[in-house]
Amino acid sequence: MRRLNEIVVVGASLAGLRAVQALRREGFEGEITLVGAEKHAPYNRPPLSKSVLHGDDDVTLPGSEELDDRWLRGRHAVQLDAASRTVTLDDGTALAYDGLVIATGARPRQFDGVHTLRTIEDALALRAELASGHEHVLVIGGGFIGGEVASTARQLGRKVTLVDSSPYPMHTGLGEEAARWLAAHHERHGVDLITNVRVTGVDGGQAHLSDGRSLTAELVIAGMGVVPNTEWLDGSGLRVDDGVLCEPTLYALGSTDIVAAGDVARWRHGLYDGAFVRVEHWSNANEQGAVAARNLLAGPDNAQPFAETPNFATHVHGARIQTAGLPHLADEASIVAGSPGEDRFAVSFTRNGVPVGAVAVNLPKELIRLKRAITARQTS
Ligand SMILES: Cc1cc2nc3c(=O)[nH]c(=O)nc-3n(C[C@H](O)[C@H](O)[C@H](O)COP(=O)(O)OP(=O)(O)OC[C@H]3O[C@@H](n4cnc5c(N)ncnc54)[C@H](O)[C@@H]3O)c2cc1C
Repeated sequence: MRRLNEIVVVGASLAGLRAVQALRREGFEGEITLVGAEKHAPYNRPPLSKSVLHGDDDVTLPGSEELDDRWLRGRHAVQLDAASRTVTLDDGTALAYDGLVIATGARPRQFDGVHTLRTIEDALALRAELASGHEHVLVIGGGFIGGEVASTARQLGRKVTLVDSSPYPMHTGLGEEAARWLAAHHERHGVDLITNVRVTGVDGGQAHLSDGRSLTAELVIAGMGVVPNTEWLDGSGLRVDDGVLCEPTLYALGSTDIVAAGDVARWRHGLYDGAFVRVEHWSNANEQGAVAARNLLAGPDNAQPFAETPNFATHVHGARIQTAGLPHLADEASIVAGSPGEDRFAVSFTRNGVPVGAVAVNLPKELIRLKRAITARQTS
């Protein structure tokens, strides 16, 4: 372990928390400063689009009670000077570091005048609106957040219209077969699905679509993907392109004292011939925060690559949809178990004959088997 004295962690959510815990677990005895834009203790986001909308406020993230380090809440990092190793905060404070963990995550793409869902405040505001009796709910974007919100709104008895710009919701992430099944699954559960169409504007309770139609939209929620929080790195000298570009070890390219983790990190992944990937999943942030911190302590020459197989799960109208790897990078897909007609099936995705991704609908054991095959090919 090399000798570091002052480590700054920017972003006090899942990846940042795991980084702080790992630093202490590894025996780092210097000063840790954790900077977080939110005022809360780190909390879990997955329940925000699920149980919280149903009235359960438990978003506890195990480990956050351990934080005894210098923790600056409600503070934004606004600038990084990598040459002088200084992070500047929105109140003018300059924090010197000899090791830096970037864990600033991502935020939703915004759409004027509509709800988005990333924070506990967003979820409580949406819950209040859902409870206030709006009859028509319009969801823009059929990704996992849009799908989960549509599902919840249906359970609450609302009329739901889901507009997605692709042929089927989650088309890129699930591939053709599973996405087509998901579209039918939404419709069977009473969602009015409109695909291959964009929402171009929302005003006065009306949403305007790219095909010229207008829809009644009393309550509108957008789930149109996220953008990484990297503006504070402008001018820092770090390479940023849809996230902080990192080596397989999560070191920022060209840096020996800065690592990145979680939704903000875009690193060369061993599974995909060193292609840069950015993964917006809980388990990725959970594991990367710890690995990035360990690698920071070890130093670039002794750092280990992060090459976990991504995995993700979502629940939509009672169905459990899981993915492993990155199906969208495949050149071939085949159903290997069950069938869409039974609402239970698994799809294997390969590239040049090598397994790179898997999707399972209500078949969790099959997902585990397919994930093993992806990981085995990666490490063989
Ligand atoms: C509604 C919802 C449901 C989800 N459901 C699932 C799910 O079912 N399964 C799954 O695998 N994943 C799910 N996710 C994704 C998962 O929550 C994220 O992958 C995870 O939160 C990423 O953690 P992170 O620490 O990298 O980033 P974030 O959680 O985004 O945290 C980054 C933190 O950094 C702070 N920050 C940003 N900029 C600055 C700055 N300049 N200075 C200081 N602080 C800053 C932010 O305020 C934030 O607190 C869901 C996400 C959402 C929003």
